[in-house]
Amino acid sequence: MQLDRIELADIHAPKRLARAVHDQIGTLNSPVMIPGPVPVMEIARALDIAEVRIGGFDGFEGMLLTDVVRSCGAILANNKHGDRRARFTIAHELGHFLLERHVPTDPKGFACKVADLRETRTGQWHRRQESEANTFAIELLAPPALFDRYLSDAPDIKDALQARDGLDLSLEACLRRMLERRDEPLALVFSHEGRVRYVIRDNGLPYLPLNKGDPIPSATPASIKIRQGRVGISEPGPNVARAWFDKADFDLHEQTRLADNGHAVTLLWSDLPVEAEDDDGAPPELGVPRFR
Ligand SMILES: [Zn+2]
Repeated sequence: MQLDRIELADIHAPKRLARAVHDQIGTLNSPVMIPGPVPVMEIARALDIAEVRIGGFDGFEGMLLTDVVRSCGAILANNKHGDRRARFTIAHELGHFLLERHVPTDPKGFACKVADLRETRTGQWHRRQESEANTFAIELLAPPALFDRYLSDAPDIKDALQARDGLDLSLEACLRRMLERRDEPLALVFSHEGRVRYVIRDNGLPYLPLNKGDPIPSATPASIKIRQGRVGISEPGPNVARAWFDKADFDLHEQTRLADNGHAVTLLWSDLPVEAEDDDGAPPELGVPRFR
């Protein structure tokens, strides 16, 4: 694979940068160019990453060894959590390499921890550059042209499972991507043995008052499924809002996947319109149903 790094040099927006890489490969014009997983190792090598090493490293999830001017680089990616996670890590480190305004976090370059690989906040420079590397990574590995074909009419965990297998990414990455790519108000509750690991939400779903380590609320179908150890994916349930929220005057659907290692993910979504219909001339905040 031949890619021109000079053409990417002045792009500082992570999504645009990933699209520019795909433009060079030709993916976006013709998804058949990459029928399966995006070849992240080849892409990295074509962009001056001299070596990519995957192994069971301690103390970091990913590392980019490079200098301030990024003359060349080497990437170490941890596969203790699986090769699919390592693929995302490689793309994340490639993001730090190509986004030349990113400031090294380590004397040797960039050392990224598990939390960095999930960072979405942008409030402070370190978080912002981790978040940008993640945006670049998912846009590179799951561009809309390749990812959106897995999406059904309604939110469904099964879509993310198919994308996982088709694009060789972790289920968690595909679920998070599904959240970004869909319009409905959505939330994902990741849990282990009935206790919350973390929650993300998008498109205006109300805040879920759940912190790390909290039990999944006991009246929810998710909690019942987990307690009964029913491994597999539930069918999307009927209105379950009251089980999750104190004030719940809206429709909420729920679906849970429980794996046999005690890890579970619960998808919550609402059908409420997200955008105002602007046909009566009224300001959008009037006359359109919204969460309170
Ligand atoms: Zn990082």
